[in-house]
Amino acid sequence: MFDKLCYEYYESLDSTNERIKERARNGAEEGLVISADRQTAGRGRIGRKWQSPQGECVATSMLIYQNDIPLDSIPSITVLCGLAVRSALSQLYGMECLIKWPNDIILNGKKICGILVEYETLSNGLSFLVVGIGVNVHQKSFSDDLADKATSIDMELLDTTIRPVHRREIVEVIWTSFMTYYKEFILYNNLSIFKEEYEKHLVNIGNRVRIERAEASYDAIARGISDSGGLIIYVNGEEQEIRNYEVSVRGLYGYV
Ligand code: ATP
Repeated sequence: MFDKLCYEYYESLDSTNERIKERARNGAEEGLVISADRQTAGRGRIGRKWQSPQGECVATSMLIYQNDIPLDSIPSITVLCGLAVRSALSQLYGMECLIKWPNDIILNGKKICGILVEYETLSNGLSFLVVGIGVNVHQKSFSDDLADKATSIDMELLDTTIRPVHRREIVEVIWTSFMTYYKEFILYNNLSIFKEEYEKHLVNIGNRVRIERAEASYDAIARGISDSGGLIIYVNGEEQEIRNYEVSVRGLYGYV
């Protein structure tokens, strides 16, 4: 288990997740955090694009070697990361965000942050995780395709004189918060101690949602999360767990 975080900041990178992967392949130490002022090829899940324009966002990724985490617990890291970002924005700006399983942080029905956890095995057999976070900070508006589903700290925090918004501070508070959750998780290797907190902030809990899979879509009720980070849904008279992360969960009438 590592304790020390090592922060590096860059002006422009293709993707902070990609840079972490390169560094891991060259033997970087666990706890390396790489952040960039902008990403030219930021990614979301399933090859989707993530917009991180110059000077307006937090794009930050951390390296974790997989020694302490069994393979089937990897989805739990996205859950911990969601809790950490939520808690950081609450501590810093009193923003009470919600979490849209698996990887989005929501404020007033719009996405303020996305999370992308990736996994790779090196040629020496060692495996690592990249925990990537993109927060919208200084955007004043979004392109037409995102306008109804994206928001930023500046758009939500109308009076920034109360607490000036500094992106490096956001980076450091998020990762400090993540480490608190992560250390506790490693002790039990189980999400059960975080379930109550997560479900309290799960955006669509108890609501009818649309489960979108590549093959088919169907309606269900979102019930909560499992001990390993899957989404529990109620469908056709029974509870099921979704563990396939290529699934999207939508509101019946929009993004949330
Ligand atoms: P899901 O609910 O399946 O996660 P998603 O559309 O949120 O769906 P992600 O992979 O989490 O998918 O994020 C990528 C998507 O987020 C992009 O396809 C785009 O629609 C949207 N997006 C891209 N950049 C931003 C941004 N800066 N802020 C908010 N949303 C963005």
